[in-house]
Amino acid sequence: LTHVGDLMELKILGFVVGELGSHVSDVLLGISPSMPEFPILRNESKLPYGYSETISWPDGTVSPGVKQPVTVWFIKGAKEKILVDTGFGFNDIELIKRIEGIYCRKKKNWTIEAGLSRIGLKPEDIDIVIHTHLHFDHFLCDEQFSNAIFIVQRDEIPWALAPPPYSRGYKKEFSEHILAVIDRIEALDGDKVITEGVEVWKYGGHSPGSMAIAVETDAGIVALAGDLIYDYKNLELNWPPGLYWNLDELIKAYNSLQKRVDILVPNHDWQFFSLYPSGEIPK
Ligand SMILES: [Zn+2]
Repeated sequence: LTHVGDLMELKILGFVVGELGSHVSDVLLGISPSMPEFPILRNESKLPYGYSETISWPDGTVSPGVKQPVTVWFIKGAKEKILVDTGFGFNDIELIKRIEGIYCRKKKNWTIEAGLSRIGLKPEDIDIVIHTHLHFDHFLCDEQFSNAIFIVQRDEIPWALAPPPYSRGYKKEFSEHILAVIDRIEALDGDKVITEGVEVWKYGGHSPGSMAIAVETDAGIVALAGDLIYDYKNLELNWPPGLYWNLDELIKAYNSLQKRVDILVPNHDWQFFSLYPSGEIPK
């Protein structure tokens, strides 16, 4: 990483803007509550932190799944005001439930405005929004950032704008949110230094252009893994999420990130907020 000056101390602040429910097989590749191994995994608590026996799905059924926070990350101390991903808004909840068929909710204070107000900022103050990728839970509030540029891997853009009907995570109904900011997108083809102490690393794997965001901090290099790593269990068991684009790339990402990084931050795990109650890393 490009070294930050002595005066700059970078930290990452995560704040929750929503919650989704995923099927267990999407969080831990191939694991299903109907498998004979499943009770053993449950007893040895190898299941993810947000595991619940009783998630209510939009179709009216109740079954096991994993409740996952949707988190927006602010990089504190950088020269530019940088946000990673923008989550989804209250207006998107019904559409997400209908077309993704998953559990989805927001609490009243789970908003970008509330998160940014903790550090005295408003959405229009943000200079750069970095998108880990363009699955629906990562960009639906882009319109709020009227003065930002949006950094994303080029490979994500056609999927977000015109996804084929079989694609998971991308849906045509959400494309208006990326179209609204299309003139301010900076499309990347690989790794890039964003500013002193902040880099993006393209891996693919979870989606065609998934990337990790590496930040140099006093505690070493902290990387936001995006959806390459949903959950601390993915890391602990070296077992990737079941929702993937290219498994070979995804496995390579796990090997690479664990070598390159001191602290890896999974993107969708409530355990993060139990390890870092203020949402700030390093503490
Ligand atoms: Zn996601």
